Amino acid sequence: TVYTPSPNRYDSMTYNHAGESGLKLPAISLGFWHNFGDTTPYDTMRRIVFTAFDNGITHFDLANNYGPEPGSAEKNCGRLLHEYFHHHRDELIISTKAGYEMWTGPYGDLGSRKYLLASLDQSLKRLNLDYVDIFYHHHMDPSTPLEETMGALATAVNSGKALYVGLSNYDGPTLEKATAILDEMHVPFIINQNRYNIFDRTVERNGLKETAHRLGKGLITFSPLAQGLLTNRYLNGVPADSRIAHDGRFLQQSALTPERLQQIRDLNDLAAERGQTLAEMSLAWLLHDGMVASVLVGASRPQQLIDNIGALRNTSFSDEELRRIDKISL
Ligand code: NDP
Repeated sequence: TVYTPSPNRYDSMTYNHAGESGLKLPAISLGFWHNFGDTTPYDTMRRIVFTAFDNGITHFDLANNYGPEPGSAEKNCGRLLHEYFHHHRDELIISTKAGYEMWTGPYGDLGSRKYLLASLDQSLKRLNLDYVDIFYHHHMDPSTPLEETMGALATAVNSGKALYVGLSNYDGPTLEKATAILDEMHVPFIINQNRYNIFDRTVERNGLKETAHRLGKGLITFSPLAQGLLTNRYLNGVPADSRIAHDGRFLQQSALTPERLQQIRDLNDLAAERGQTLAEMSLAWLLHDGMVASVLVGASRPQQLIDNIGALRNTSFSDEELRRIDKISL
């Protein structure tokens, strides 16, 4: 297959600065957590990334452990980049992370300098890259001094292996401490990656969203569709090709309680009144106040990306609509 990207690929996507940095991210980014491991046909992955890039989705998000097996999403991404995006490296933002368990023994997880820098080297090999654009610490590690973890991120940048650094799954107070350390070292720390969707408002409660905004740091939100719950996927049962049915590692049937299903139906009705699908409204809701630079979606097929980009046609909400969303979901 020869891939020629669409010449119109930058015509309709919105790009937002990651906080006060110079780096712009597409309002919709593509995550490799699911559907890029060794259980997905290579042709499916290829079609998803072609559709993404053809529509201005310039950011692919990975982590050392994405699979299955851990590492295989990076390996498959590396193959895709090598085979089809060789001439487009400078048009792409590739991120990866370290924090969760990647190999056995005391140096294969958490936040030590030993683990983070070894993991980044392994990621670069799998990805076939000299550098990643963003290197994240994947989750807070209270057992390691923050200075050590932030020092490892600084080394990643200073050695040319990452252009920017990010923090994932941090809370407001820890973000504030980390920022002070990184600022002192002049590290280009620009972005937070956290779960945020209509059903999960943790970042509004733990200070992350407010602190990131106040400090001029960006926010990219993962599982914006609650892994597919905030779409029409489960309105009429569990389709055989859905995440719940075919990959229940992180989303199980037990998530579909009668209360949850009723909320999904009520939100779906509200979305219809707005002339949107539930997926579109859920993504638009995240983008409406300008505090989220990018929503990081997953996709099991190209059409889902096209549908999700449709969210950008209307990201404004009346106060009444926002109140109704809260009333249904909280
Ligand atoms: P989403 O909430 O966007 O869920 C994606 C899934 O929803 C798809 O795989 C698909 O599932 C379904 N879907 C997507 N679009 C539609 C649509 N238009 N209509 C119907 N169904 C749709 O995000 P993810 O949970 O996948 O997370 C996204 C990314 O965030 C990850 O790939 C990863 O990069 C990042 N992430 C980061 C974490 C961290 O700790 N930093 C943790 C988790 C994720 P189906 O298979 O049913 O078609």
